[in-house]
Amino acid sequence: METEDCALCGAPIEYLTGFRELTCESCGRREPAHAVCSKGHYLCDSCHGAGIRKTIMDMALMTLEKDPFKTAEAMFSQPGLPMLGCEHACIAAGAFLSAVKNDGRIKISNKQLHEAFQRLSRQAAGGYCGLTGVCGILPALGACVSILYGSRCGKDIEQRLTMEAVTRVSSEIVKLTGPSCCKAYALAGLGVAVDFLKDASGVALPVQNRIVKCLWSARHPHGCRLDKCPYFDLASYRPAAGNPPHSVGLC
Ligand SMILES: [Zn+2]
Ligand SMILES: [Zn+2]
Repeated sequence: METEDCALCGAPIEYLTGFRELTCESCGRREPAHAVCSKGHYLCDSCHGAGIRKTIMDMALMTLEKDPFKTAEAMFSQPGLPMLGCEHACIAAGAFLSAVKNDGRIKISNKQLHEAFQRLSRQAAGGYCGLTGVCGILPALGACVSILYGSRCGKDIEQRLTMEAVTRVSSEIVKLTGPSCCKAYALAGLGVAVDFLKDASGVALPVQNRIVKCLWSARHPHGCRLDKCPYFDLASYRPAAGNPPHSVGLC
Protein backbone atom coordinates (compact mmCIF):
# COMPACT_ATOMS: atom_id res chain seq x y z
CA MET A 1 0.00 0.00 0.00
CA GLU A 2 1.37 3.44 -0.93
CA THR A 3 0.98 6.45 1.33
CA GLU A 4 -0.94 8.12 -1.50
CA ASP A 5 -3.82 5.73 -0.89
CA CYS A 6 -6.31 5.46 1.98
CA ALA A 7 -4.33 4.98 5.19
CA LEU A 8 -6.96 2.59 6.48
CA CYS A 9 -7.68 0.24 3.57
CA GLY A 10 -5.31 1.14 0.72
CA ALA A 11 -8.04 2.11 -1.75
CA PRO A 12 -7.45 5.16 -3.97
CA ILE A 13 -8.44 8.62 -2.73
CA GLU A 14 -11.19 10.50 -4.57
CA TYR A 15 -11.11 14.29 -4.77
CA LEU A 16 -14.52 15.98 -4.61
CA THR A 17 -15.51 19.20 -6.37
CA GLY A 18 -18.06 19.99 -3.65
CA PHE A 19 -17.75 19.38 0.07
CA ARG A 20 -19.41 16.48 1.81
CA GLU A 21 -20.04 16.22 5.57
CA LEU A 22 -17.97 13.25 6.71
CA THR A 23 -16.91 11.75 10.02
CA CYS A 24 -13.23 11.07 10.76
CA GLU A 25 -12.67 7.34 11.24
CA SER A 26 -10.02 8.07 13.87
CA CYS A 27 -11.27 10.87 16.14
CA GLY A 28 -14.97 11.02 15.25
CA ARG A 29 -14.89 14.69 14.24
CA ARG A 30 -17.59 15.55 11.70
CA GLU A 31 -16.65 18.22 9.16
CA PRO A 32 -16.91 19.30 5.51
CA ALA A 33 -14.47 17.24 3.42
CA HIS A 34 -13.13 17.30 -0.15
CA ALA A 35 -11.13 14.05 -0.24
CA VAL A 36 -12.38 10.61 0.70
CA CYS A 37 -11.32 7.01 0.19
CA SER A 38 -13.20 5.33 -2.67
CA LYS A 39 -14.53 2.89 -0.07
CA GLY A 40 -15.84 5.70 2.10
CA HIS A 41 -13.16 6.12 4.78
CA TYR A 42 -12.36 9.65 5.87
CA LEU A 43 -9.53 10.94 8.06
CA CYS A 44 -9.51 14.58 9.16
CA ASP A 45 -6.40 16.69 8.55
CA SER A 46 -5.35 16.41 12.20
CA CYS A 47 -5.44 12.62 12.19
CA HIS A 48 -4.08 12.22 8.65
CA GLY A 49 -0.31 12.34 8.90
CA ALA A 50 -0.25 13.15 12.62
CA GLY A 51 2.69 10.78 13.18
CA ILE A 52 4.80 12.10 10.34
CA ARG A 53 4.10 15.71 11.31
CA LYS A 54 5.51 15.00 14.78
CA THR A 55 8.57 13.39 13.17
CA ILE A 56 9.11 16.49 11.03
CA MET A 57 8.73 18.75 14.06
CA ASP A 58 11.19 16.68 16.09
CA MET A 59 13.69 16.78 13.23
CA ALA A 60 13.32 20.56 12.94
CA LEU A 61 13.94 20.95 16.67
CA MET A 62 16.94 18.64 16.82
CA THR A 63 18.85 19.19 13.57
CA LEU A 64 22.05 21.24 13.59
CA GLU A 65 21.95 21.68 9.80
CA LYS A 66 22.23 25.22 8.40
CA ASP A 67 21.36 24.28 4.82
CA PRO A 68 17.54 24.07 4.65
CA PHE A 69 17.63 21.96 1.48
CA LYS A 70 19.60 19.23 3.23
CA THR A 71 17.08 19.23 6.07
CA ALA A 72 14.20 19.10 3.61
CA GLU A 73 15.83 16.19 1.77
CA ALA A 74 16.22 14.29 5.07
CA MET A 75 12.57 14.98 5.90
CA PHE A 76 11.44 13.86 2.41
CA SER A 77 13.19 10.54 3.06
CA GLN A 78 11.19 9.72 6.18
CA PRO A 79 9.04 6.60 5.84
CA GLY A 80 5.36 7.37 6.09
CA LEU A 81 5.59 10.75 4.36
CA PRO A 82 2.83 10.91 1.74
CA MET A 83 3.84 11.88 -1.80
CA LEU A 84 1.46 14.83 -1.53
CA GLY A 85 -0.08 16.67 1.40
CA CYS A 86 0.35 19.55 3.79
CA GLU A 87 3.01 17.63 5.67
CA HIS A 88 5.16 19.37 3.04
CA ALA A 89 4.12 22.74 4.49
CA CYS A 90 5.58 21.50 7.79
CA ILE A 91 8.75 20.50 5.95
CA ALA A 92 9.10 23.92 4.29
CA ALA A 93 8.66 25.75 7.61
CA GLY A 94 10.71 23.29 9.66
CA ALA A 95 13.62 23.16 7.22
CA PHE A 96 13.74 26.94 6.77
CA LEU A 97 13.32 28.07 10.36
CA SER A 98 15.67 25.43 11.79
CA ALA A 99 18.34 26.58 9.32
CA VAL A 100 17.89 30.19 10.44
CA LYS A 101 18.07 29.07 14.08
CA ASN A 102 21.24 27.04 13.50
CA ASP A 103 22.85 29.82 11.47
CA GLY A 104 22.49 31.95 14.60
CA ARG A 105 22.66 35.45 13.14
CA ILE A 106 18.94 35.83 13.80
CA LYS A 107 17.83 34.42 17.15
CA ILE A 108 15.13 31.77 16.83
CA SER A 109 14.01 29.64 19.76
CA ASN A 110 12.42 26.21 19.79
CA LYS A 111 9.29 27.91 21.10
CA GLN A 112 9.18 29.97 17.89
CA LEU A 113 9.53 26.79 15.82
CA HIS A 114 6.49 25.43 17.64
CA GLU A 115 4.74 28.73 16.97
CA ALA A 116 5.36 28.41 13.21
CA PHE A 117 3.86 24.93 13.18
CA GLN A 118 0.85 26.09 15.15
CA ARG A 119 0.24 29.03 12.80
CA LEU A 120 0.55 27.01 9.61
CA SER A 121 -1.85 24.40 10.99
CA ARG A 122 -4.59 27.03 10.81
CA GLN A 123 -4.25 27.62 7.06
CA ALA A 124 -2.45 24.68 5.45
CA ALA A 125 -5.33 22.38 4.53
CA GLY A 126 -4.86 19.31 2.33
CA GLY A 127 -6.10 19.74 -1.25
CA TYR A 128 -6.89 23.44 -0.90
CA CYS A 129 -4.16 24.41 -3.38
CA GLY A 130 -6.61 23.25 -6.03
CA LEU A 131 -9.77 24.40 -4.24
CA THR A 132 -8.82 28.00 -3.39
CA GLY A 133 -5.45 28.57 -5.09
CA VAL A 134 -3.65 28.80 -1.75
CA CYS A 135 -1.01 26.10 -1.32
CA GLY A 136 -0.27 25.33 2.34
CA ILE A 137 3.39 26.17 1.77
CA LEU A 138 2.39 29.84 1.48
CA PRO A 139 1.08 30.20 5.06
CA ALA A 140 3.92 27.93 6.23
CA LEU A 141 6.66 30.21 4.93
CA GLY A 142 4.52 33.25 5.73
CA ALA A 143 4.44 32.07 9.34
CA CYS A 144 8.25 31.81 9.35
CA VAL A 145 8.70 35.32 7.93
CA SER A 146 6.10 36.78 10.27
CA ILE A 147 7.97 35.27 13.22
CA LEU A 148 11.34 36.52 11.94
CA TYR A 149 10.10 40.10 11.56
CA GLY A 150 7.49 40.25 14.32
CA SER A 151 4.43 40.63 12.13
CA ARG A 152 0.89 40.43 13.40
CA CYS A 153 -2.40 42.06 12.53
CA GLY A 154 -2.05 45.83 12.86
CA LYS A 155 1.70 45.92 12.20
CA ASP A 156 3.11 48.08 9.41
CA ILE A 157 6.32 47.14 7.57
CA GLU A 158 6.43 43.75 9.34
CA GLN A 159 3.16 42.68 7.77
CA ARG A 160 4.20 44.07 4.41
CA LEU A 161 7.39 41.98 4.52
CA THR A 162 5.38 38.87 5.36
CA MET A 163 2.84 39.39 2.61
CA GLU A 164 5.60 40.27 0.14
CA ALA A 165 7.39 37.00 0.94
CA VAL A 166 4.20 34.98 0.52
CA THR A 167 3.47 36.70 -2.79
CA ARG A 168 6.94 35.82 -4.05
CA VAL A 169 6.53 32.18 -2.98
CA SER A 170 3.18 32.01 -4.78
CA SER A 171 4.69 33.54 -7.94
CA GLU A 172 7.37 30.87 -7.97
CA ILE A 173 5.11 27.94 -7.19
CA VAL A 174 2.65 28.81 -9.95
CA LYS A 175 5.41 28.07 -12.48
CA LEU A 176 5.43 24.46 -11.28
CA THR A 177 1.71 23.72 -11.58
CA GLY A 178 0.17 21.17 -13.90
CA PRO A 179 -0.43 18.98 -11.93
CA SER A 180 0.62 20.15 -8.50
CA CYS A 181 3.49 18.56 -6.61
CA CYS A 182 3.97 19.38 -2.94
CA LYS A 183 7.62 18.30 -3.02
CA ALA A 184 8.46 20.64 -5.90
CA TYR A 185 6.45 23.45 -4.28
CA ALA A 186 8.26 22.99 -0.95
CA LEU A 187 11.68 23.14 -2.60
CA ALA A 188 10.78 26.15 -4.75
CA GLY A 189 9.27 27.89 -1.71
CA LEU A 190 12.42 27.24 0.30
CA GLY A 191 14.48 28.83 -2.46
CA VAL A 192 12.33 31.96 -2.32
CA ALA A 193 12.53 32.08 1.48
CA VAL A 194 16.33 31.80 1.39
CA ASP A 195 16.57 34.63 -1.15
CA PHE A 196 14.08 36.74 0.79
CA LEU A 197 16.07 36.38 3.99
CA LYS A 198 19.19 37.58 2.19
CA ASP A 199 17.36 40.53 0.62
CA ALA A 200 15.58 41.60 3.80
CA SER A 201 18.25 40.90 6.42
CA GLY A 202 21.51 40.27 4.60
CA VAL A 203 21.65 36.74 5.99
CA ALA A 204 22.79 34.25 3.34
CA LEU A 205 22.20 30.69 4.50
CA PRO A 206 24.90 28.24 3.37
CA VAL A 207 23.08 26.47 0.54
CA GLN A 208 25.09 23.91 -1.40
CA ASN A 209 22.45 22.76 -3.85
CA ARG A 210 18.89 23.97 -4.12
CA ILE A 211 18.00 21.61 -6.98
CA VAL A 212 17.44 18.51 -4.86
CA LYS A 213 17.12 15.33 -6.93
CA CYS A 214 13.61 13.94 -6.57
CA LEU A 215 13.63 10.21 -5.84
CA TRP A 216 9.87 9.95 -5.56
CA SER A 217 8.59 10.82 -9.06
CA ALA A 218 7.11 7.38 -9.76
CA ARG A 219 4.86 7.67 -6.70
CA HIS A 220 3.04 10.79 -7.89
CA PRO A 221 -0.64 9.80 -7.99
CA HIS A 222 -1.53 12.45 -10.58
CA GLY A 223 1.51 11.99 -12.78
CA CYS A 224 4.93 13.53 -12.27
CA ARG A 225 5.70 16.40 -14.64
CA LEU A 226 8.93 14.58 -15.45
CA ASP A 227 11.41 16.75 -17.31
CA LYS A 228 9.20 19.82 -16.96
CA CYS A 229 10.08 19.77 -13.26
CA PRO A 230 13.52 21.12 -12.25
CA TYR A 231 13.84 18.44 -9.53
CA PHE A 232 13.09 15.44 -11.77
CA ASP A 233 15.94 12.94 -11.89
CA LEU A 234 15.77 10.57 -14.84
CA ALA A 235 18.57 8.37 -13.46
CA SER A 236 16.56 7.42 -10.36
CA TYR A 237 13.15 7.30 -12.04
CA ARG A 238 11.63 3.81 -11.76
CA PRO A 239 8.01 3.76 -12.94
CA ALA A 240 5.99 0.98 -11.33
CA ALA A 241 5.31 -2.11 -13.47
CA GLY A 242 2.07 -1.71 -15.38
CA ASN A 243 2.15 1.97 -14.67
CA PRO A 244 3.96 3.51 -17.65
CA PRO A 245 5.38 6.99 -17.29
CA HIS A 246 2.96 9.78 -18.11
CA SER A 247 3.73 11.52 -21.34
CA VAL A 248 5.22 14.94 -20.87
CA GLY A 249 2.50 17.49 -21.46
CA LEU A 250 -0.34 15.10 -20.74
CA CYS A 251 -0.06 14.97 -16.94
ZN1 LIG B 1 -10.27 3.31 2.85
ZN1 LIG C 1 -9.65 12.93 13.09
